[in-house]
Amino acid sequence: MVTQAHSDAPGRAFDRALVQRELARVLPSGGLLSEPRALKPYESDGLTALREVPWLVALPEDEAQVWAVLKICREHGVPVVPRGAGTGLSGGARPLADGLLLGLSKLNRILEIDLESCVARVQPGVRNLAISQAVAPHGLYYAPDPSSQIACSIGGNVAENAGGVHCLKYGLTVHNVVGLRVLTIAGDMLEIGGKGLDSPGYDLLALMTGSEGMLGIVTEVTVKLLPVPPEKRVVLAAFAEVGAAAAAVGAIIGSGLIPAGLEMMDRLAIQAAEAFVNAGYPKGAAAILLCELDGVTAEVDDALALVRRIMMGNGAFSIRVAVNAEEQARLWLGRKAAFPAVGRLAPDYYCMDGTIPRGRLAEVLRRITELEREFGLAVANVFHAGDGNLHPLILYDANEPGQLERAEAMGERILAVCVAVGGTVTGEHGVGLEKLDPMCGQFSSAELEQMHRVKHAFDPDSLLNPGKAVPTLARCAEIGGMHVHGGKLPFPNLPRF
Ligand SMILES: Cc1cc2nc3c(=O)[nH]c(=O)nc-3n(C[C@H](O)[C@H](O)[C@H](O)COP(=O)(O)OP(=O)(O)OC[C@H]3O[C@@H](n4cnc5c(N)ncnc54)[C@H](O)[C@@H]3O)c2cc1C
Repeated sequence: MVTQAHSDAPGRAFDRALVQRELARVLPSGGLLSEPRALKPYESDGLTALREVPWLVALPEDEAQVWAVLKICREHGVPVVPRGAGTGLSGGARPLADGLLLGLSKLNRILEIDLESCVARVQPGVRNLAISQAVAPHGLYYAPDPSSQIACSIGGNVAENAGGVHCLKYGLTVHNVVGLRVLTIAGDMLEIGGKGLDSPGYDLLALMTGSEGMLGIVTEVTVKLLPVPPEKRVVLAAFAEVGAAAAAVGAIIGSGLIPAGLEMMDRLAIQAAEAFVNAGYPKGAAAILLCELDGVTAEVDDALALVRRIMMGNGAFSIRVAVNAEEQARLWLGRKAAFPAVGRLAPDYYCMDGTIPRGRLAEVLRRITELEREFGLAVANVFHAGDGNLHPLILYDANEPGQLERAEAMGERILAVCVAVGGTVTGEHGVGLEKLDPMCGQFSSAELEQMHRVKHAFDPDSLLNPGKAVPTLARCAEIGGMHVHGGKLPFPNLPRF
C-alpha cells in the first residue's frame, strides 16, 4: 500500500556540516538548497501521497559538477536520489530525509542534431517535447511521447523506460535511445552505445533504460529521430459497451495492422475530458477508441478502410475521421488532458499502471467494474489499449477517513488481476516505492536476487536511489508474497537465498 510504502533504504550517519560545506564548494551559487521553504517543492514526485523533505537539494549545471557531487557523496556515504522533472508516478524520485536530492533539470541543452545519422544528442534535463520541437524544421521528430511530454525530462524517460501513445508502432524509450553517458556513484564515466543501432558487448543500454536511477546518473542521451510521416489520420469510434471496444482493439491488432496509436477511454474519462477541454467526444458512449494511422497516403487509405470495417464489425455506433490537423489535435487533446481532467471529478485520484495481454482486456475491465462495486470507489479508465497498458484512475477523497486506504487496497487488487492474467505490475510508470510489494508477487527470489547483484555491480554501497524498484528478499518474506513460478521451486535441491 502506498501509505505504508516504506523504502528499504537503511539509515546513514555522516558529518552533515562537513558534507554541506564540500558540496557548496563544487556547486555554483544557488545550486545547493537547504532552507526548508526551498526544499518543500521537492518532497515528492507525481505520486504526492508519498512525501519526505530531502536533507539537501543539489542543482548542478554540468556533468563535471554532477561528478564532483557524486564523489563527495560516495566518500561520505551519503545516499543520492536523482530527479528529472519530478512527474514520475511511482515515487522513484521521492527523496530521503537523510539523503541528497540530485536535480538534473539544469542540464537542459540540446548538444547536437546530426541529420546524417538522424540522431540528437541531448542533456538529461531536456524536456521530451523540446526534442521534437527542435528538430521539427528538419521534418523530424522523437517518437516516444508520454502524456506528460510537455514537462517530463528525457533523463527521467530513460530511467523509467517511458512509453506514450506512439510507442505501439515506434517502440518505447528503450527502442529509441542509441547512446548514453552515465556516471556511476563509484566514479566511472560510461559511454554506452553511440550513434549507431548496435554496439558490441552486453546490452548495457537496455540495462540502463528503465533502471530507475539505481545504477547510474544519465548525463547525456542520444536519441533516434524519425521523419514526420507524410500522411496521418485520426479516427474516433464510439461504443455502447466497453467489452465491444476491447474486442475491436484485439481485432485491429489481430488483422496485422499496427496503428501509430490506439487508445481507449471509458465513460467517466470521456465525460471528464469533455468537460475540461471540449474535445468533441460523444458523451453517451460507454467507451471510445482513438486510432491514429500514419504512412504514405495509399497505405493510410487502405488502413483506414480496414479499421472502419473492424470497428463497425465490433459494434461501433459512430465513427468519425478528423478532417484536418486542428481536429486531429483536438481529439488527441482530450486524451492527453485526461489525467488532469479526471482530477476535477474528485479531490484525489490514484493512477494505477499495469499491463496485460491484449486478448484479456474485456475480462480485466469487467473485473475492475466489479472491484468498483466491492470497494465503493469510482474508476476512470484511460489507457494505451494497443499495448494492453492499463491506467485505472481510482477516485477518492483523502479527507474522508479510510478512503485513501481503500483506494490503495483496490489498486493492489487490480495489479493482482493483471499478474493473474499473465501481465505485469507496471507498464511504463516504473516500480519506484509504490510497487515494491507487488514485485514480490511477480518475481521469484532467484530473479530478485539477480537484480540485486546487478545493482551491487554498479553501486556496491547502495547509495544511489536506495530502497527503490527492487524489494529486498526480507521484505518479500515479511509480506509472505514470494512467488514461485508454477507453484513449486524450479530447482528444489539448490539452496535458496
Ligand atoms: C499527467 C501525467 C501523465 C503521464 N503520462 C505518462 C505516459 O504517457 N507514459 C509514461 O511512460 N509516463 C507517463 N507519466 C509518468 C512520468 O511523466 C514519466 O515516468 C517520466 O518518464 C518521468 O520523467 P521525469 O523527468 O519527470 O522524471 P522524475 O519523476 O524526476 O524521475 C523518475 C525516475 O527517474 C530517475 N531519474 C531522473 N532523472 C535521472 C537521470 N538523469 N539519471 C538517472 N536517473 C534519473 C529518478 O530517480 C526516478 O527514479 C505521466 C505523468 C503525469 C504526471
